[in-house]
Amino acid sequence: MRRKLDLRTGRPVWFQYRAPAVSAQKLTRDVKADVAVIGMGISGAMMAEALTAQGMDVVCIDRRGPLKGSTAATTALVQFEIDQPLTKLSPMIGRVQAERAWRRSRLAIESLFARISELGIPCNLDRRASLYLAGNVLGAGDLAEEAAMRRQAGIASFHLTPKPLADRFGIQRDGAILSHGNLTLDPRMLTAGLLLKAVARGARIYAPVEAVKIASRRDGVTIATKDGPTIDVAHAVLATGYELLDPVPAAKHRIISTWAIATRPQPKAIWPEEAFIWEASDPYLYMRVTRDGRVICGGEDEDFSDEERRDALLEEKAARLSEKLGRLFPKLATAAEFAWAGSFGTTATGLPYIGVVPRHPRIHAVMGYGGNGITYSQIASEIVASALAGREDADGDLYAFKR
Ligand SMILES: Cc1cc2nc3c(=O)[nH]c(=O)nc-3n(C[C@H](O)[C@H](O)[C@H](O)COP(=O)(O)OP(=O)(O)OC[C@H]3O[C@@H](n4cnc5c(N)ncnc54)[C@H](O)[C@@H]3O)c2cc1C
Repeated sequence: MRRKLDLRTGRPVWFQYRAPAVSAQKLTRDVKADVAVIGMGISGAMMAEALTAQGMDVVCIDRRGPLKGSTAATTALVQFEIDQPLTKLSPMIGRVQAERAWRRSRLAIESLFARISELGIPCNLDRRASLYLAGNVLGAGDLAEEAAMRRQAGIASFHLTPKPLADRFGIQRDGAILSHGNLTLDPRMLTAGLLLKAVARGARIYAPVEAVKIASRRDGVTIATKDGPTIDVAHAVLATGYELLDPVPAAKHRIISTWAIATRPQPKAIWPEEAFIWEASDPYLYMRVTRDGRVICGGEDEDFSDEERRDALLEEKAARLSEKLGRLFPKLATAAEFAWAGSFGTTATGLPYIGVVPRHPRIHAVMGYGGNGITYSQIASEIVASALAGREDADGDLYAFKR
């Protein structure tokens, strides 16, 4: 797997909305700190905020700059409902572990909501219900079983048969699972807000700065940067998204390509409750609404990482997304005002790898995987912040590299 990527192309809708500026300094001399966070997307920002809240002296770097990686391309359906259904995850890792993973995601969404509210970060945060529609991965009967299994794990889920689905949401499908309490937000505003909180507590931000080598010793870590200066810290946190630094094993990780569009604002044409909608299908389709009534629709994922091929397909994929959206909601204006493509990393089970990198006890990797990257960024910041405070997270084993 290549370790450097062209993460996205096209024009993500988020550039339409203003995020606060996060200014970065030039790194012109060697620096020391308690922790270095490498990467300033949503994962690095959550990490910097959590660590400075613990009183740590933090240095953040990014080879592109804050908010310039995958985070700008996300569609930001922030869901506890991870892509891997409980009925599919259970046979892979065991029922008890699968239920724990689902419950932890549920809690992560609550914790993220509480965290943003407590910090008072303006990021267009709203609660949303979600509808998981029957498709070719889980049909109507499978969805009923999935909902029952989630409830048994303590997670409220309602199975809708075709009539209530059509009556309440105007959608003609074989059935759906209705869930509550997911989050919509503006990912750039949130990331900038978290970084600014960290800066207010003394974090130093340097960019563009590329980490090229990371050497760990018994008592610390030295990061060599492309332009020369080094960063000496007690711990390094690699929040480099889908680009992996050398100490991180890449074997269990694969990159796929994905596409998204956003329509013009049309608040009056939106479906009831502005619920998230996603399909139990492969390839899947998903959609959400922005505060000003644009529909963001994404999916059409393909199992390849070639960026030229990904970008060449942008027009065709945007047209297909727009057409599929129109089939579901014939009254919507589905033309794409924004269209973009991105790559994302995923694993065999869909669960990310988070925690101490094998054989490097002072290097922690924070990787927001798959379609639930933001949920996992939150979980990662909890796990790593606990580790650096000398405590073990109760679910750390679920995501550990050595699981
Ligand atoms: C089209 C699309 C739709 C998505 N939709 C959703 C969704 O609806 N919900 C959801 O939860 N997730 C979604 N995701 C996933 C989500 O976007 C990602 O999980 C998340 O943005 C990852 O954040 P990050 O901070 O880990 O990575 P990034 O934002 O990529 O940040 C990593 C940073 O590390 C920097 N970096 C890399 N290497 C180095 C180095 N050597 N030195 C210094 N800096 C370095 C990069 O420049 C980059 O800025 C989607 C992704 C895509 C592409």
